[in-house]
Amino acid sequence: MSSVRYAALEEVMQRKAKGLNVNNGKVSEFYGSNVFNRVAMRAHLTEEAYESVVNAMNHGHRIERDIADQVAMAMKDWALAKGATHYTHWFQPLTGATAEKHDAFFTPTSDGRAIEQFEGSLLVQQEPDASSFPNGGIRNTFEARGYTAWDPSSPAFIIGTTLCIPTVFISYTGEALDYKMPLLKALDVIDKAATDVCQYFDKNITKVRATLGWEQEYFLVDAGLYNARPDLMMSGRTLLGQMPAKGQQLDDHYFGSIPERALAFMQELEFESLKLGIPIKTRHNEVAPNQFECAPVYEEADVAVDHNLLLMDLMEKIARKHDFRVLFHEKPFAGINGSGKHNNWSLGTNTGVNLLSPGKNPKTNLRFLTFFVNTIKAIADNPDILRASIASATNDHRLGGNEAPPAIISVFIGSQLSEMLDKLEASIKAGKMTPEAKTELKLSIGKIPQLLLDNTDRNRTSPFAFTGNKFEFRAVGSTANCSSAMIAINTIVADQLAKFKVAVDERIKKGDKKDEALLKELQVLIKESKKIRFEGNGYGEEWVKEAKKRGLNNFLDTPSALKVMTSKEYKKLFSKLDILSEREIDARYEVELENYILKLQIEARVLGDLCNTSVIPAAIAYQNIVLENLRGMKEVFGSASDKMTNSQKELLAYVNKHLQGVYSKVNEMVEERKKANAVQDTAKKADAYCHKVKPLFEEIKYHADRLERVIDDELWKLPKLRELLFSK
Ligand code: ADP
Ligand code: MG
Repeated sequence: MSSVRYAALEEVMQRKAKGLNVNNGKVSEFYGSNVFNRVAMRAHLTEEAYESVVNAMNHGHRIERDIADQVAMAMKDWALAKGATHYTHWFQPLTGATAEKHDAFFTPTSDGRAIEQFEGSLLVQQEPDASSFPNGGIRNTFEARGYTAWDPSSPAFIIGTTLCIPTVFISYTGEALDYKMPLLKALDVIDKAATDVCQYFDKNITKVRATLGWEQEYFLVDAGLYNARPDLMMSGRTLLGQMPAKGQQLDDHYFGSIPERALAFMQELEFESLKLGIPIKTRHNEVAPNQFECAPVYEEADVAVDHNLLLMDLMEKIARKHDFRVLFHEKPFAGINGSGKHNNWSLGTNTGVNLLSPGKNPKTNLRFLTFFVNTIKAIADNPDILRASIASATNDHRLGGNEAPPAIISVFIGSQLSEMLDKLEASIKAGKMTPEAKTELKLSIGKIPQLLLDNTDRNRTSPFAFTGNKFEFRAVGSTANCSSAMIAINTIVADQLAKFKVAVDERIKKGDKKDEALLKELQVLIKESKKIRFEGNGYGEEWVKEAKKRGLNNFLDTPSALKVMTSKEYKKLFSKLDILSEREIDARYEVELENYILKLQIEARVLGDLCNTSVIPAAIAYQNIVLENLRGMKEVFGSASDKMTNSQKELLAYVNKHLQGVYSKVNEMVEERKKANAVQDTAKKADAYCHKVKPLFEEIKYHADRLERVIDDELWKLPKLRELLFSK
């Protein structure tokens, strides 16, 4: 019996780690060599053009047309010298991936030659055939056109032989159709709000940048096995599959050395990443077999987002070269650890200060406390906004599973900082503060750094944890574009900081000294944000009950998590700060729901196909083997065989029961799908997929997995989980 599965398994056995196509020199010699960064710009641009681009990068200033022409020319020369033949506008549509459309540099001339050409107009704006990107109805109502516009704040780069120009993607009526536009706006808003608050502490602070350090988790699966699993290919996860005898109980992968083939992949990935200026620094095995993680040094949030998307793109390409396929899905294997993308977030000033890093003295610690407490308050007031920002069909499988952060948003800060906040809350008195009270307070505030050094407790079960000098948003999914989470965090914190500034100014106007005003206002925030602080086990049932008592929501699926986007408060907040208009929010809500529906629709189809064309035929073929055996037994032993073949008959009945289970549940699912597809309203349709179609996946899987348990291994065509997880 030769099946695709067996052929793939044979292939895997022959595999060797690939020879390496990397430079063994010092990283400093090739770092950023494929980026049109400041060094390259200095070398290729006039002083005037250089200043103009740097101003655009730092302050968002406009670039004049003649300068754009100069920049385009310089970019082209730089890119051609590096072997580039094409250019593309690179953007981040709401599908979650990145998009590009390549155009060649050459232009034919009238006398039959060709010249390489690239003008400012091509750099600044392009019209991709955009009708196929999700737009939530924005483009349909006006005209079916959108355009990409150069974003000079991220540098251009070369991948392969293509010059990639980072752009934003907007409709002709000016609405954002991507993740980048609102992210840039949110970063601008937090800059202003945080810089204003910083004036209480240091007048030299003129700019605050939100920083992001992501940690990307992923699985590597052999390409041959992957190709024999249509569900992995189409939906990114295994829709069927019996848990292997050995899972991750032994934790031997986590602590083990990185397998050779995977290591070769990582080395090439790192080399290519570093050339693109992606500061990849760490690599290691993760908890599940064949699961890994990599993380860079943190960067300004928009650059970090670009770099994460670029990295994911590189990973796909390089994995293929090493006969792997990379799985970004949050839960590719039921019952095995999923993948996340922790978003480490902080705020850094132009003076080099991390605002979430405890200082050395009471003054700098008051600054720390201000940003720390305001962040907690922002989450306390807007947990549903954070939850919506990470909602997706794929992340639904991970949130609330017993190894991932729960779907309930809470903040973990560690017992010592908790005590510190409780103490502050209790010890600040209304009215004028006595000098003794102030000294006492300052002393306790001054203790923070020392306390933190001793504070090693780390709560892995919290979706939003303070980890010493940054917050770590752990509930972000591994497939996500981090922009979504970054837009949410920076928006709600900016809004909170602005409110804080107004309140403190008010107190100062009424006669409080600055420090006193700050402390008193912080006390109010501490009090008002208590419900969001949780130090216990986030995976426990207890927390679900406790959270309910506290009035915290526990949205277990995407349709319910996204609902907040239709609320007045959500629209008011985002439109007030000019990050997203109501129309853009409506469109995004629609797009998110559509993405959700499409993903489930694909899964449903693939699952039906697999069952009908692979699982059921295998079951029948196996039954026929048993039947053949029964007939043979009867031929030899006559009526005596009746008693002798009890096990065969039991087996036959068992297979038949689950075969019928698969068959009937698939039919039921098809019916439910038809009903769901007929629903017009997108939100209701998503609900139908969520509550009527999806639950049947589990039932089908149950029966199919029972069949996998007993059916002759040679008849089973789909690579088994143990093969996907343990082949190296
Ligand atoms: P771990 O959380 O695994 O213990 P680290 O604390 O060293 O590891 O940091 C993990 C991630 O946090 C890295 O990607 C790093 O770049 C990022 N990080 C560190 N400091 C900051 C910061 N100030 N702002 C944003 N991200 C940061
Ligand atoms: Mg971490």
